[in-house]
Amino acid sequence: MPLLSCKLCGKLFTSAGGRTCPACLERLDGLYPRLREFLRDNPKVDFNVESLSETLEMDIRDVQALVDMGYLDRNLDKSGESVDADRQKLAKEFEQSLKQMKDSVAQRDGAQHTASYGQQRYGEKKR
Ligand SMILES: [Zn+2]
Repeated sequence: MPLLSCKLCGKLFTSAGGRTCPACLERLDGLYPRLREFLRDNPKVDFNVESLSETLEMDIRDVQALVDMGYLDRNLDKSGESVDADRQKLAKEFEQSLKQMKDSVAQRDGAQHTASYGQQRYGEKKR
């Protein structure tokens, strides 16, 4: 696992994929319910990272991190779907590139067959 510096506190940590250290993730986990509740209670108000951090007295970088991680999407179900869709898209693209590889191999084989078939016919005609 790569050693990264946490994008929030700058501390080096062993990353399992994210850019945020476990300590910060834990802090964000604690902040998230407050943010979510606040957004739920104020569904009509448009907040940005700055006003949210001021209103909730949070570090603006923490709020930004929550936004970056998709925690603050008003429609949480939708964001979950899009993540799944992305994964499906990736899987599909991978599948497709595999198929293309197979197809190009098949085409090469087919071309060889056609060529030898044509040569045979040509040879027959010539005779
Ligand atoms: Zn950190």
